[in-house]
Amino acid sequence: MSQDESLGSDLGNTRQKSNAPRTGHPTRMGNPPTSATTPSAPPIFQTSAFDVPDLDVLQAMTRGETHGDIYTRDSNPNHTALAETIAFLEGTESGAVFASGMGALASIFLTLAGRGDHVIVADALYGRTSQLAERLQSQFGIELTGVNSGSRGAFRNAVQPRTRFALIETVSNPLLAVADVAAIAAELGSVPLVVDSTFTTPELCRPCRDGAAIVVHSASKYLNGHGDVMLGVAAGTRDMMTRLSETASLFGQNANPFESWLCQRGLRTLSLRMRQVCETATLLARQLEQHPAVRRVHHPLLAGHPHHELAKRLYPSGTGGIIAFELREGGADAVNRFMRLSKSIPFSPTLADARTTISYPAGTSHRFMSAERRVAIGITDELVRLSVGLEPIELLAAELHESLSAVFEP
Ligand SMILES: *Cc1c(COP(=O)(O)O)cnc(C)c1O
Repeated sequence: MSQDESLGSDLGNTRQKSNAPRTGHPTRMGNPPTSATTPSAPPIFQTSAFDVPDLDVLQAMTRGETHGDIYTRDSNPNHTALAETIAFLEGTESGAVFASGMGALASIFLTLAGRGDHVIVADALYGRTSQLAERLQSQFGIELTGVNSGSRGAFRNAVQPRTRFALIETVSNPLLAVADVAAIAAELGSVPLVVDSTFTTPELCRPCRDGAAIVVHSASKYLNGHGDVMLGVAAGTRDMMTRLSETASLFGQNANPFESWLCQRGLRTLSLRMRQVCETATLLARQLEQHPAVRRVHHPLLAGHPHHELAKRLYPSGTGGIIAFELREGGADAVNRFMRLSKSIPFSPTLADARTTISYPAGTSHRFMSAERRVAIGITDELVRLSVGLEPIELLAAELHESLSAVFEP
């Protein structure tokens, strides 16, 4: 049997065609031959649109009788595959993907609330999320009530007749306030609870099982986990995810196929990565607490944290890879010296990369806030956020000890 015969008829035909006189055009070429085998890794559907056989098929698709993608802004196999994986991990009916975590949050606001509606927001949210809510308030007349997610009864008391939803984070950025999702959902009754679980991922908690209506993530962080993607995801009921996806498509908040593909790849190691960063962060937090250059360490599994008891119950093995700590004194200058001394741990204003990074909330995520408000919510000028990566604990402990010990040396 010749090589060509063994390759199967379709590929053989393609070969024959390619030897035939060339009457086509490069714009019509490039589709791979059909094959008896399937790729071991998922393909990337890097295409703007999909060719539809005829109007009957188009009609069957629009009536929902058969599935087919038409235009990538509306849907794409890589997005669908990722959305289904997220739904599986979160234990929900369905999922949706967006251009970024902010794209997901914006789509949620734009879907659920309009002029004159009311939204309850936790007062310790990712800085840009607070900024988004405030922008929607000033520009589109959505009313906001800020609530301390740690105080009992606060959500029940904040509900109004036009409250459309409440938004909280499982573990907040950067001070790691821990929210009791089940208790808050119970307080809200029929008002939908939206939970940003970026810091905890479905490995550590599944908010929709605790009564949340929507769980949302910046997949740019742990879900992808390698610091090379901008992406957002949400999970919830099929009906809700369809509504969010329609908003995302209309407002151009759609993801692109390669980002979805990369995140799908990252998810294969999510469980291992989360286990490792939880363990390293919990141990490092205890070590940092002992260092004389450090005034205070914020980590929910340390006894001094305001939500320590709740954290022990909800997250016994760790709250993810984030630790925040305050240098003893010296404001931004001391932080600057510390950053310059930490040669192998870069200052990078993100989190959940595979490598350990440090960030400075007062100058990055919370720079849009007034200095008074920042300090009032605990984001001091000495506060450093550490995002623990996958390096061995011994290496990180030694590097941090060395740079911290040098910060206040004359
Ligand atoms: C980063 C982040 C976001 C925003 O996500 P992007 O993907 O950067 O747009 C939202 N919430 C939390 C908690 C985050 O850390």
